[in-house]
Amino acid sequence: MSKAKETVLEIDLGALAHNYAYLKAKLKPDTKFMGVVKAFAYGSDSVAIAKKLQDLGVDYLAVAYVKEGVVLRKAGITVPILVLHPLPASFKKLIKHDLEPSIYSEKILLDFLRAAEEQGLGNYPVHLKFNTGLNRLGFREDEVEHVCNLVKGRKEIRVESVFSHLAASEDLNEAFFTKSQIAAYERITGMLDKGLGSKPLRHLLNTSGIINYPMAQYDMVRSGIGLYGYGNEAAIDKELRPVARLKTIISQINRIPAGETVGYNRKFTSQGPIVSATLPVGHADGIGRPYGKGKGYVVINEKRAYILGNVCMDMIMVDVTDIDCKAGDEVIVFGGESSAETLANHAGTISYELLTGISQRVKRVVLDE
Ligand SMILES: *Cc1c(COP(=O)(O)O)cnc(C)c1O
Repeated sequence: MSKAKETVLEIDLGALAHNYAYLKAKLKPDTKFMGVVKAFAYGSDSVAIAKKLQDLGVDYLAVAYVKEGVVLRKAGITVPILVLHPLPASFKKLIKHDLEPSIYSEKILLDFLRAAEEQGLGNYPVHLKFNTGLNRLGFREDEVEHVCNLVKGRKEIRVESVFSHLAASEDLNEAFFTKSQIAAYERITGMLDKGLGSKPLRHLLNTSGIINYPMAQYDMVRSGIGLYGYGNEAAIDKELRPVARLKTIISQINRIPAGETVGYNRKFTSQGPIVSATLPVGHADGIGRPYGKGKGYVVINEKRAYILGNVCMDMIMVDVTDIDCKAGDEVIVFGGESSAETLANHAGTISYELLTGISQRVKRVVLDE
């Protein structure tokens, strides 16, 4: 861990290996593991993360869109890659790069079959997505028979897996609903196995599903946030290590007399004399306006310094009145001891949004032990 000289996002692959081992230990030895690396691996560095996961022996990777998968293939990633949300316009690219589509509606199925026929494919792996209550993507339970009829006898494709996604796996107040999703998934997969005359892989759980509903792990799980060090609950966060650490430095210290204001639109007024530090990170880097006006903070010399006034595009000003610091000192925005989840909660959001929002302007520095 070197001292930051500019705003950098450090990617700690040792932490990734630790989190992978922790999550694997929650599973039966033969349960497969799909590492979710969509959205630049939750805002970190999808190639570095995918390479490390491949070295660690991950069975599958998942991305949201075809172009994310293409980046991984061009970087030499060879493990199977599921594309969770492919669009018909990208099917040719998907096939060219050996990516495997989630098939989530009759239209997508027919469009993909047409593309598969055109390309002369045989036995191409596809993954059927069923909606069991999230109401986002997927076939409905009453479409199972119809799906089987459309798929049966089609030599271009083979159904590699059948999956669904839980709506509230992190919220135990919703356990009744989650159990109804699991029950629906059981019925769907049972009917499909019969209808297809084969047994595609089954997978349902995301990170919080692994933690709260391990009995529903089936053949494979799909984990994202846990790999990056966040478990949606404090007890799990303690066991995991954050992979991404956003660091910056102090550009300038300002001594501000009582009664002056700080930043655009003068949203902070000093009650007494204060000391502020200006930092080279702003909303264009992913620290959005909701973090301003005293909600968000950074850590300088192990103390929290809260954001003064509005977040600017390229900068924030923080209150360092009670912190011993100077221009050039290192600043931790999140990561390490300072949780991205806690910081995100202060601005009314979640770690997923804070992490994936760190913009491509921020330099990534990959650390391997
Ligand atoms: C993003 C995503 C996941 C990963 O969820 P985490 O909560 O980050 O573990 C799993 N499955 C699907 C379908 C997803 O979209």
